[in-house]
Amino acid sequence: MKLTQYFFPTLRDDPQEAQIVSHKLMLRGGFITQSSSGIYSWLPMGLKVLNKISDIIREEQNKVGHIEVLMPTIQSSDLWRESGRYEDYGKEMLRFTDRHDREMLYGPTNEELITDIFRTFIKSYKHIPLTLYQIQWKFRDEIRPRFGVMRGREFLMKDGYSFDLDMEGAKKSYKAHYEAYLRTFKRMGLTAIPVKADSGAIGGDMSHEFQILAQTGESTLYYDSEIENLNGQDLDIDKLQSLYAAAEEKHDPSICPVPADKLKVAKGIEVGHIFYFGTKYSDPFGATVMGSDGEPVTVHMGSYGIGVSRLVAAIIEASHDDNGIIWPEAVAPFKVGLVNLKPSDETTSALCEKFYVSALAKGIEILYDDRDERAGVKFADMDLIGLPFQVIIGPKGAATGRVEIKIRKTGERQDLSFEDALKLF
Ligand code: ATP
Ligand code: MG
Repeated sequence: MKLTQYFFPTLRDDPQEAQIVSHKLMLRGGFITQSSSGIYSWLPMGLKVLNKISDIIREEQNKVGHIEVLMPTIQSSDLWRESGRYEDYGKEMLRFTDRHDREMLYGPTNEELITDIFRTFIKSYKHIPLTLYQIQWKFRDEIRPRFGVMRGREFLMKDGYSFDLDMEGAKKSYKAHYEAYLRTFKRMGLTAIPVKADSGAIGGDMSHEFQILAQTGESTLYYDSEIENLNGQDLDIDKLQSLYAAAEEKHDPSICPVPADKLKVAKGIEVGHIFYFGTKYSDPFGATVMGSDGEPVTVHMGSYGIGVSRLVAAIIEASHDDNGIIWPEAVAPFKVGLVNLKPSDETTSALCEKFYVSALAKGIEILYDDRDERAGVKFADMDLIGLPFQVIIGPKGAATGRVEIKIRKTGERQDLSFEDALKLF
């Protein structure tokens, strides 16, 4: 993509309304723009990141046999009355009536709808275990939307739902999600701390929140420092699950098993939540299947969420410097940013063009800054948008066919021949 042909509405100054760095950088870098409180448009570069995150989530879900569906954003109130949540949900749920005066709502979550689909179509134990998931927009009328897409009102969520014959089966589904979530976050370059969360009386130990460490996190976490070390290696799930991690409300120093010198305290951003809730919905909905012995069985369910749009901000919180975003390669909007230091110089522009075309031919995602702008502006914008690699070409290098590579994360620079530079990617 050439910048002169792209839609790239950056802001020069720090937006006043933004309190945290990810929100600032997303607005300044032209990733999102607010449309109303807690509701955002995703601009081209932001949408690219959002899609990459969605794709990683999708791949890791599909890998463990979970099946993607797409349910509507708008739901009828009928199913919510059936579960008893229509009243319970309160003001977070956006409710409205259609032209026939039917009560409708914008879905804040989908347990009711998925249970209804399940009971309509699945009648036999032979189709179980089953996990259905979707990546779909949700609306929650948060009392205090803030920090940009971190706590929006409209936000993209991956929500999955497992169906099993019994608690044993549900445990397996739960573990599959737990593992898939860790792999998912790791692929995004994140250290996720799975923290036990309470899900009420049933299956108390089968509820975890996945927290990303960041100073601006809303939760305070206490955890065994070993968790961070483990995260860096091949995932040893059993070991990880045996280690202590608790949110502030649950942390009791008098019974904490971790010695003080190994106990870490840090802020976290919740990017995922998984929990088992047994027959809470399948029971009232009559979601039963014929068991292998011919008797009806009420299915056990679990629910598994990832904040897809929140992750975009969470990744920035976890990975930035004073100059801007540092995207992990897996989610970067483009892998390479090409900077033409002097578009008016023919040799420079010819070499840039050649690099751009060759990169595209190799399938490299490249953003070419071909604007007629000062070098300083281009450098600042490139650092701001945080592409992993910068390729810088100016008249001096171009005369001898050499280019400069800058690695965004380390700031490390290398002077290479055109061919060697291309081989890097
Ligand atoms: P929170 O405690 O942050 O409000 P939650 O417990 O209400 O989260 P869940 O219902 O478990 O969240 O939703 C699954 C995931 O969706 C959360 O882990 C979070 O990453 C994301 N999420 C929830 N609410 C929002 C929001 N208002 N804006 C963006 N993402 C959200
Ligand atoms: Mg909430």
